[in-house]
Amino acid sequence: MRLIESPSEMREAAEALRLSRAPVGLVPTMGALHEGHRSLIRRAAGECGAAVVSLFVNPAQFGPGEDFARYPRSLEADLRMCREEGAVAVYRPSAEAVYPGCFSTWVEVPALAEGLCGPHRPGHFRGVATVVLKLFAACRPHRAYFGEKDYQQLVLIRRMERDLDLGVEVVGCPTVREADGLALSSRNAYLSAEERLRALSLIRGLRKAEALLAEGERASARLAQAACGELDRAGARVDYVEVVHPATLKPVERVEGEARIAVAAWIGGTRLIDNIPLRAAP
Ligand code: AMP
Repeated sequence: MRLIESPSEMREAAEALRLSRAPVGLVPTMGALHEGHRSLIRRAAGECGAAVVSLFVNPAQFGPGEDFARYPRSLEADLRMCREEGAVAVYRPSAEAVYPGCFSTWVEVPALAEGLCGPHRPGHFRGVATVVLKLFAACRPHRAYFGEKDYQQLVLIRRMERDLDLGVEVVGCPTVREADGLALSSRNAYLSAEERLRALSLIRGLRKAEALLAEGERASARLAQAACGELDRAGARVDYVEVVHPATLKPVERVEGEARIAVAAWIGGTRLIDNIPLRAAP
């Protein structure tokens, strides 16, 4: 497995991989890898001739006062996991290489960034879209693997790929959870034992809404209210609980067919997100 640290070296390696080991599958990550990341890398390695993993804590997607400086970093363990899962290369550029001083080109997908996390994290999705486009340019993948855990990100990247004719198949992968339902996240490392228990209110809330839907309640406000109840009881500070269309991410008043319920909430000083699909019985 090669460790590549400059965009030009990555581009050269990617060209060679495309010729000899196509298709090339890319797994973009910010490192601090966990079993959720592992599932993406395993799938990319299983479905592609070559799997490339990027490790880059992208400063452009963190707002002022967010956790960029203290974001967990664990290079040795990350490289071990990439090797175990059969990645052929790890791309780990420096921030200076990705954003040189003169950098001034940004990608925005406003229609998909305006709701859910958008208003709570101004500039976040602009940073995400821009870095993913740059990772695609350096790694030249045929496919790229993203988790449904970050559902808004997945939908937004799909749109960017289509809008800009990037020729990358964007593959969405299911959320990996702990046995008790907590979605794996690098940010779970911030939680104390007591907060970890309270963090279960996110998935409990989502499942409560799902159960209510199964009982016949289709009004989004009622479903969101049920989820909020769980979060409130756990003392979580809710940024939003919303029921949205799975492709446009626009709020829906009622669940007819498929929808997505998504939550963002603070447990102490840690902001967590989660989401699940909702399907109304025909
Ligand atoms: P991150 O390092 O948090 O930026 O995540 C890198 C990729 O891993 C993104 O596509 C995430 O959606 C995905 N991911 C993060 N957590 C999980 C999880 N629990 N299950 C599946 N994929 C995940």
